[in-house]
Amino acid sequence: MMIQVTPNLQAEDRGGPAQPLLVVRNLKKYFPVRGNLFSKDKKFVHAVDNVSFSVAKGKTLGIVGESGCGKSTTAKLIARLIGLDSGKMVFDGDGVAEYGGIALKEFRKNLQMVFQDSFASLNPRLTIEQTIAYGPTVHGVSKSEATHQARTLLQRVGLAPEQFASRYPYELSGGQRQRVNIARALAYQPRLVILDEAVAALDKSLQAQVLNLLQELKNERQLTYLFISHDLHVVHYMSDEVMVMYLGQVVEKGPVDRIFNHAAHPYTQALLSAIPSMDPNQRTLKPPLDGDPPNPINPPSGCRFQDRCLKVMNKCRAVSPSLTFVGLGSEHTVACHLNEVTQL
Ligand code: SF4
Repeated sequence: MMIQVTPNLQAEDRGGPAQPLLVVRNLKKYFPVRGNLFSKDKKFVHAVDNVSFSVAKGKTLGIVGESGCGKSTTAKLIARLIGLDSGKMVFDGDGVAEYGGIALKEFRKNLQMVFQDSFASLNPRLTIEQTIAYGPTVHGVSKSEATHQARTLLQRVGLAPEQFASRYPYELSGGQRQRVNIARALAYQPRLVILDEAVAALDKSLQAQVLNLLQELKNERQLTYLFISHDLHVVHYMSDEVMVMYLGQVVEKGPVDRIFNHAAHPYTQALLSAIPSMDPNQRTLKPPLDGDPPNPINPPSGCRFQDRCLKVMNKCRAVSPSLTFVGLGSEHTVACHLNEVTQL
């Protein structure tokens, strides 16, 4: 039996730890493309196309996919760093920026982002202490209190305030700057933190330290993370749930161990088989995924993975698969016609 996923957006959902912290429904963003001078057709890059998901309180949702799949655009749409074409968000039971819901300003206070480029994220003219204290002072905290909080946070992220507070970003290493970015994000006392390739620029030993710090902070402060990464080892370590995106759409989502051990979508299976193995006998020279993703300006009708899928069927070229549960009572969903065949 096939069970269609029907998201519940009702406001009466509110309250309690079982309620998701963030519900995203039918998020859409098409970027216009400038055609040639004589072309009348307007073209659009389908960057994020009907993306829906939810994140439980205190959990980490890992978002994976090749570059250009829409993971970072999805994050920026959630943070409203770019405007969405359509879609809805519910934050702890309240619609965001809707009549009767919470205002965008209130939502933004609850959400912070940490990006890959630790240097570009910091103002080179502010000391580290000023950087961390800036946000709270803008929100009405006194300067002395904000400075005290900044020093406490610096200590918490492993940078002794007496040594680092008066330094400027250029005087720090990449790992130290990313700790400052984490401290600055926490200064707003957010409930949701979006980590967009936040450890990608760090070497492996620094990555491990920052990841452990993020895990500790999550437990201490009951934070909820959206963790975007191309590194599946890191996603496996950090995430409670994993969502896989392909060409602007969600193709699979489920508990981390379920996705890593029983992936149902051929694209997820290909991504996972590309993870480098430590066992020489398990190594393969054959690329698991041939070719590049199709042009996002004109995605094919039907399944967007059809031209790279080894299991493609006639139906895949005509009908776009929707997300359906993999088995009864499961939290695992996949958008693939193969799932419909196996569930009959
Ligand atoms: Fe492959 Fe068809 Fe499934 Fe798409 S729907 S992933 S083409 S089997």
